[in-house]
Amino acid sequence: MSTPTDRSRSLDVVVVGAGFGGLYALHRLRGLGLSVRVYEAGSGVGGTWYWNRYPGARCDVESLEYSYSFSQELEQEWDWSERYAPQPEILRYIDHVADRFDLRRDIQFDTRVTAAAFDETLGRWRVTTDQGDDVSARFCVMATGCLSAATTPDIPGLQSFQGDWFHTGQWPHEGVDFSGKRVGIVGTGSSGIQSIPVIARQASNLVVFQRTPNFSLPARNEPLAPDAQAQVKAGYGALRDAARGSFSAIAVSAPTELALEVDPAERRRRYEAAWARGGLMSMTTTFRDLILDKAANDTAAEFIRSKICEIVDDPDVARVLTPTDHPFATKRPCLDTGYFETFNRDNVTLVDLRQTPITEIVPTGIRTTGGVHELDCIVFATGFDAMTGPLLRIDIRGRGDRPLRDKWSAGPRTYLGIATAGFPNLFILTGPGSPSVLSNMVMAIEQHVDWIADCLSYLGAHGLDAIEATVDAEDAWVDHVNQLAGATLFPRANSWYMGANVPGKPRVFLPYVGGFPQYRSTCDAVAAEGYRGFGLTAAAAAAERP
Ligand code: FAD
Ligand code: NAP
Repeated sequence: MSTPTDRSRSLDVVVVGAGFGGLYALHRLRGLGLSVRVYEAGSGVGGTWYWNRYPGARCDVESLEYSYSFSQELEQEWDWSERYAPQPEILRYIDHVADRFDLRRDIQFDTRVTAAAFDETLGRWRVTTDQGDDVSARFCVMATGCLSAATTPDIPGLQSFQGDWFHTGQWPHEGVDFSGKRVGIVGTGSSGIQSIPVIARQASNLVVFQRTPNFSLPARNEPLAPDAQAQVKAGYGALRDAARGSFSAIAVSAPTELALEVDPAERRRRYEAAWARGGLMSMTTTFRDLILDKAANDTAAEFIRSKICEIVDDPDVARVLTPTDHPFATKRPCLDTGYFETFNRDNVTLVDLRQTPITEIVPTGIRTTGGVHELDCIVFATGFDAMTGPLLRIDIRGRGDRPLRDKWSAGPRTYLGIATAGFPNLFILTGPGSPSVLSNMVMAIEQHVDWIADCLSYLGAHGLDAIEATVDAEDAWVDHVNQLAGATLFPRANSWYMGANVPGKPRVFLPYVGGFPQYRSTCDAVAAEGYRGFGLTAAAAAAERP
């Protein structure tokens, strides 16, 4: 329980969010001797893994890699049960981390940060919350997550629905029993594709409302054999180094060949092998030009389409499930366990919203232009206001009381995805303009937190109090990020990477597509050159700047 003094205290650092990012930030920054307070809207740690408790939720980066690397003891003591751990197990792991490193004493749960304003006179951030906290901090670390602002579509009539409705990203902790229920699910992204097979096995009927068919690859999830796990643990350092040196911060060898360099039979053989191995990286790293050259991409896309056609019994259903409007991997590819097979079940119906759009929700179900689908429950697997949403839901104000919402009205502008000009001493974890969601996020988080911790040490050692990205460095970085994205196929999809899933959101490719190693070495070089592209000042000077 906080005391009144806690609610108005003066801190070195405020961290917002207690997912993988906020927890590691607390651990590292507290280790520098700084006073740190974490504010978390949820009642527990875990972030993504606290909120997304829908049936079938699990990681799509293998657990042995989708885990912290900062502590060898932690790496050795934790055992994963499956190739891709389910949500409850990942949450247990994060809970274990919070206990093991004694993190909870500096976290205030059930507290949403509503505003953060830079006081130019004091050179400090004033952070306020929905629980009445009003604290002052030299530094703010936004560990608010990229996929934490769930979006429910604004469909007329939702409030009239007499059954229960849920969003996958805000799933009830007690779970939901769909037995004997007629369930409708809207959305066929990763969350929909993971949950549909599980819900279909429980519900009496499942109606899948699909707007855009998606590429999905078999996960080939399986129990992790103890000896295989022991082998990884024996060489964990090498695995992590390999991950740090790879494009997506996942330990795979970089492909060297172009898709059209090999003959069609050999290409097919490689795609078959990737399909049989399962996982995201098997297919995406088959050839090096899949995300650069449409003709190359077509070969992978066509292969996956042929698999959908093979798996799904009814050719009309298979056709509706077949993605044709975007190149493979320009939306995040999904990993599934029996997704396409689920449409062979008698109790599952697919509704093609391109043919029969939703018009309204009525007390008894969902009405499309084709009629009413009677439902007891609706699941919205409709995603998130990604990357910028969690930040812009906070009233963040920098120099001159300028709202971040105004500064980013045409799209986010950052330097290295970690800082934004006009907002001194504000750090964004895995922000827009960094590899972030295109990489193994735990590695991306560790790299950002380590960089921030080194930066704060540097400031301390040099008697400096403030760091702020310059407008020139930011402009150059934004141009660089856009140029890289423009050379890929990514902008061809209406994806959340592009902000296309949120009505009115500016269309900008959000993450940095140059790869984790290149990004990391740029960050390291910036630091080695005395934080090139940043203005560093002592507190008084920072306060005086125009
Ligand atoms: P989050 O885990 O999102 O934590 C942010 C926290 O900040 C949340 O708890 C939120 O409540 C809190 N918060 C936000 N705003 C405020 C506020 N104003 N005040 C107080 N608290 C606030 N990535 C991968 O690399 N591999 C995967 O396999 C993978 N699987 C995923 C599966 C799902 C279902 C989803 C949704 C995402 C997945 N991701 C995956 C991405 C995932 O978000 C990251 O891997 C990682 O968990 C992000 O950690 P984080 O701490 O940065 O953010
Ligand atoms: P998403 O990928 O954005 O998918 C949302 C789905 O909802 C899309 O099919 C979208 O259709 C549909 N939709 C949105 N608004 C709609 C509307 N008004 N009417 C009809 N359909 C609508 O969201 P997500 O599935 O939650 O996944 C988000 C990201 O989280 C993933 O890409 C991934 O990075 C991460 N994640 C990972 C895993 C994992 O496997 N580990 C699991 C879940 C999530 P359109 O395509 O037409 O917009």
